Amino acid sequence: MISGKHFLLAGAGVSGASLARVLADAGHKVTVVDRRSQIGGNCRDYRDEHGIMIHRYGPHIFHTSNEEVWNFLKPYVTFNTYMHEVLAEIDGFYAHLPFNFNTIEQLFPRQMAERIEDKLIARFGFGKKIPIMEFLKQEDADLKFLADYVYRKVFEGYSAKQWGPGFLQVAGAVTARVPVVLSRDNRYFQDKYQGIPLDGYSQMVRNLLDHPSIRLVLNCDLKDYLKESKVDAFEQIFSSGAIDEYYDYRFGVLPYRSVNFEFQTHNCEHYQPGACVNYPCNYDFTRVHEYKYYLNDRSDCTVIAKEYSEDFVPGRNEPFYPVVSDANQELYAKYRKLADDDGKVTFMGRLGDYKYYNMDVAIARSLEIGKKFC
Ligand code: UDP
Repeated sequence: MISGKHFLLAGAGVSGASLARVLADAGHKVTVVDRRSQIGGNCRDYRDEHGIMIHRYGPHIFHTSNEEVWNFLKPYVTFNTYMHEVLAEIDGFYAHLPFNFNTIEQLFPRQMAERIEDKLIARFGFGKKIPIMEFLKQEDADLKFLADYVYRKVFEGYSAKQWGPGFLQVAGAVTARVPVVLSRDNRYFQDKYQGIPLDGYSQMVRNLLDHPSIRLVLNCDLKDYLKESKVDAFEQIFSSGAIDEYYDYRFGVLPYRSVNFEFQTHNCEHYQPGACVNYPCNYDFTRVHEYKYYLNDRSDCTVIAKEYSEDFVPGRNEPFYPVVSDANQELYAKYRKLADDDGKVTFMGRLGDYKYYNMDVAIARSLEIGKKFC
């Protein structure tokens, strides 16, 4: 181990904090800058005046089957035991998502449901997961009917709201995150480990950064920080910020979707029957989250957020979802080449890698980068 190097890292979210910790534990000094006034990145959370844990930038449910990531996080966080379930308002029912045998039986007459389930098992096998774009290719009339139904009632409307006109360019990849499941498993994720941090993600990040060799500078943009200090003072710079912004959008803006969260407080124990209800075919919002379900918070009132998707516009809103179409990937590759040629800045996270990462994959990437530089 070579020790005593000084690294500069931009972004105090889960990616940045994980990498900072790995580097610090290996004996290096790390300066972490973040332009926001709070740590946590887009996982930032806080308890509101009613004692309900709010995820400021949308709910984050941690799930992983990656033992290395799970073991890495253990000293810094205690997760509750929580298996996420999602309901979708379909034809007036609260139907289970991912679409599975329970959903089929909720929505169709019994004999029809049984016939379709038998055909699904014969065709694919019990327990299989089928991405909707694959499922649409079926020739059998019953299976084709089901595939068209699921596409229309679950994906078409929701995805048009979520992704806008660019949906078809990313349809295969994004809809594969929620395949049709040929079992009675109502869980949204099937990973071995799942949960919500009992003390919140911000506390988890705080714990990761709590190391004598990590210095945290908030309200500070990476480029501004670099104006005041010498690039050469650092062995390497890491950034979980947007790669196109770092290079002043010289090839154009990488497209992202943003979300406008409309928070509401209601004077009732619960607003809806579960943590997350999707509205594929109705309203302008995509889904409604009710926060108190995540940690089973006790309060006479409840807080919800309606999610309205919109294009990301630099300076106006936050980039959340990279729109990873072929054309946009080509644009990203140009920025990536700049970074590779320069060699001084390593990008990571959803905005740095321009990938639709889940939290565990983002952390796995930080651990991988850490190994390279320790
Ligand atoms: N999706 C959909 N209808 C739903 C749920 C998901 O069309 O009821 C599609 C949509 O395109 C969405 C993608 O599947 O963007 C991935 O969904 P996921 O729940 O993973 O999105 P996230 O929680 O990351 O926003």
